[in-house]
Amino acid sequence: MEAAEEIDIVIVGAGICGLATALALHRKGIKSVVLERSETLRAFGSAIAILTNGWRALDQLGIGPKLRQTALPLQGVRDIWLDGNKQRRGPLSKGEARCVKRSDLINMLAQDLPHGTIRFGCHILFVELDPLTNFPILQLRDGRAIKAKILIGCDGASSVVAEYLKVKPKKSFPAFGIRGLTYYPSPHGFDPEFVRTHGNNVVCGRSTINQNLVFWFLLLPGYLKDSEIFKDPELIKQMALEKTNDAFPKETIEMIKDCDITSLSLTHLWYRPAWDILLGTFRKGMVTLAGDSMHVMGPFLGQGGSAAMEDAVVLARCLANKIHGESINGFEGNNGLFRKKMEEAMDLYVKERRMRLVRLSAQSYVTGLLFSSASMIGKILLLALIIVLFQDPIRHTRYDCGHL
Ligand SMILES: Cc1cc2nc3c(=O)[nH]c(=O)nc-3n(C[C@H](O)[C@H](O)[C@H](O)COP(=O)(O)OP(=O)(O)OC[C@H]3O[C@@H](n4cnc5c(N)ncnc54)[C@H](O)[C@@H]3O)c2cc1C
Repeated sequence: MEAAEEIDIVIVGAGICGLATALALHRKGIKSVVLERSETLRAFGSAIAILTNGWRALDQLGIGPKLRQTALPLQGVRDIWLDGNKQRRGPLSKGEARCVKRSDLINMLAQDLPHGTIRFGCHILFVELDPLTNFPILQLRDGRAIKAKILIGCDGASSVVAEYLKVKPKKSFPAFGIRGLTYYPSPHGFDPEFVRTHGNNVVCGRSTINQNLVFWFLLLPGYLKDSEIFKDPELIKQMALEKTNDAFPKETIEMIKDCDITSLSLTHLWYRPAWDILLGTFRKGMVTLAGDSMHVMGPFLGQGGSAAMEDAVVLARCLANKIHGESINGFEGNNGLFRKKMEEAMDLYVKERRMRLVRLSAQSYVTGLLFSSASMIGKILLLALIIVLFQDPIRHTRYDCGHL
């Protein structure tokens, strides 16, 4: 059998979190390797809204100024409830908000990484502990094995690294989401806002990216069983039109009709309950998690991606503070000291992130229940709960993950 390759720091997954973590480490002078199962960078989900806290993390990663040039600043987030022909407008939230194409974000995170950092076509089947060295071994689908000194699982909601850590399984939210982009040959004329329209038990979100491009999504109640529909954009579009017809304004229907069919995606909504985040073990030996693998949450606050970038900044800072400018090889021959320092660093990271993530997950969950509750009494009770628990409902957007 081929001997396992040895790598100091392995990150599994080249999504937003894995790339942000590799970039954060690179900015601190620490080398890592990202193993991604796809053959190219994936930008699943068309676009992503990024609020003040996410821009702070992007500035620390050094790509904020460049990424800002790809999207117009939004004046804020607005909720509209369709009530017959009436529209009730909620207040605009404050702070920096932009909606960027996921491909722009992913490409910019990847562009600044040293050549060879990302290895594509590396599908990790499982992780086990090397009984001799106590370091993790990753088993790849093509039969190879890789030994890592430090392993960071950024492999999303269905994480094999979370399985190794025996984190409780994610849960399915009783709703699903459709996302897409619509290009307008002449300026669309929409206000630069993130608008969420609630009607007919459906939430339709729309955000301008630039004067000719709009990102939209639908959140629909229920569970989806038909797996064929996930692969067929025409069926996804048909479903989006069926769910919005009659109840939504003409401009919404036209936006869906004219969408870029290749941008359409349909997803289940997963979440990790706040109490599992509060009580979960997110570090075992030299292995930890970041991003959706640790705290997948429904899209109701639009914070999963930004929280993942915050994780990246905090984790890189904690590791770098313990390495103190030495290379990992600086610990050569003193494995015990290296292990102790890295475990301390990862514990500090988990400690710093835990309560932030508990609050975000709880707020996202209760907000999701509010969106998906069909009963008026249910909605009133949930609204009261939100007011009691989260007196300032946009406080989470002002969070500052600090300097890298
Ligand atoms: C409908 C919807 C709307 C959303 N809107 C927003 C928003 O507006 N703003 C926001 O901040 N967040 C939003 N989110 C959340 C956001 O998309 C996620 O939090 C974010 O993408 C998580 O990034 P990640 O890198 O942790 O995981 P992922 O994006 O899932 O990336 C994981 C990567 O790991 C790879 N991988 C997985 N398993 C393996 C394996 N075994 N071996 C090798 N590679 C593997 C995958 O191929 C993938 O590239 C939304 C989510 C949904 C569902």
